[in-house]
Amino acid sequence: MQNPKHPLQPERLRRRPARRASLLGSLLLFGGVGTFVALSTAEPAPEAASSRSDAGPSGHSVALAAFSPELPAVSAAPPSNAPAPSEVASPAPDLRITEGVISRGTTLARALSGQGVSSDVVHVIAREMRPLFDFRRARPGHRFRLSQDDLGRVVDFRYRTTPTSSYRMSLVGEGYSVRQEEAVLMPRPARLSGVIASSLYRAVTDQGEHGQLARDFADVFAWDVDFQRSVQPGDAFRILYEKLYRLEDDGSEAYVRPGRILAARYEGVAGRHTAFYFEREEGVGGYYRPDGTSVERQFLMAPLRHARISSRYTSARRHPILKITRPHHGIDYAAPVGTPVWSVAEGEVIFRGRAGGFGNLVKVRHSNGYVSYYSHLSRFAKGLRRGDKVGQKQVIGYVGQTGLATGPHVCFRIARNGQYVNPARLRTPAGDPVPNELFSTFRSARDVLLAELDAGELVVASEESL
Ligand SMILES: [Zn+2]
Repeated sequence: MQNPKHPLQPERLRRRPARRASLLGSLLLFGGVGTFVALSTAEPAPEAASSRSDAGPSGHSVALAAFSPELPAVSAAPPSNAPAPSEVASPAPDLRITEGVISRGTTLARALSGQGVSSDVVHVIAREMRPLFDFRRARPGHRFRLSQDDLGRVVDFRYRTTPTSSYRMSLVGEGYSVRQEEAVLMPRPARLSGVIASSLYRAVTDQGEHGQLARDFADVFAWDVDFQRSVQPGDAFRILYEKLYRLEDDGSEAYVRPGRILAARYEGVAGRHTAFYFEREEGVGGYYRPDGTSVERQFLMAPLRHARISSRYTSARRHPILKITRPHHGIDYAAPVGTPVWSVAEGEVIFRGRAGGFGNLVKVRHSNGYVSYYSHLSRFAKGLRRGDKVGQKQVIGYVGQTGLATGPHVCFRIARNGQYVNPARLRTPAGDPVPNELFSTFRSARDVLLAELDAGELVVASEESL
């Protein structure tokens, strides 16, 4: 299992005590243009912090190393979604709270009356909410929370359809105000690290974090590492990122999902890659290597996600159907029929149609004399035509088995000036580096993030997670 030549063998990754982090404090030093943004969070009140509940699959929070609660208070202004003090927290003790989740095969009315809410009250709620939300659209997993006063009157009713959107009805004078609410999520820095036992996705979800973080991480390095192909057991990763929390009615916080990745490192057979998020100007950010070059390249490593290589680029191989030896000038990615296939670079569609053994084929012309090929597609992206401009990672079609194919896959090829080249070897830069005038800002911020990225212990995935 362990590659003896691997630079990061699990047994060498001895645990060391988590260093107290001060990311937030340090980052405050960097203001204005060229900062790592989205770190201006309000610290939770101590009681809120202690009642913080991870809504994710939960589990080993050790690796999530929430940054220490004794960080200096930042940004005194409460987040804009924080309800006014009168609305929040400590409801009058005589309020009766009824909460629940809609389960399969039931209705909101039944869920409420099942908890002893009178039919009159159910009727009032349904009537007041109707302009915004029809109860017939209630779905399993939706959550509700009802507050009633000692007369049984509805004081507040919240109906949550997603972790961030809800419909709310509040008593105002003698009537009700009804509105839709979008929770503004509060970012809190966190760190996740590990060693891959089977896949990056498992290494992340086994630690209780959402799989989205693994996908975002793979996206940061998508130009350098093909996570479907190059990742091996023993490879190590570190992620410094934001966890996004929603403020609850009782003042506690609920973890919703991972937010932006601030810094990331991947170290394995595919090399060592480190990237930092940096905003060149407000709202315009990207990922950069420690030397300030952009991680972005002209070509992505792969034209799809969730695929395995079924055939590599080679100058000689035995064709599975034709039973003759001939070169394979592409990379075959096997994936279920219907898996989206995207253009690996920005360009123009120069072919879209049937092409013999290629089956349904899309060809995209890029700058510098490159053309990429995507074949055996089951169908094309809706509306895609010859002459269309496509962006990097824009879906152009879907995996299929058209033409000469033994199973569903996409044969991905790149030609330059009419000659096929190995897509796995392309290393063409595309993104602009950090501008000179911002480099010192970048360097300071990078060093802070780097220290945080390397702080704390590295969690070694257990054998049973294999
Ligand atoms: Zn092929």
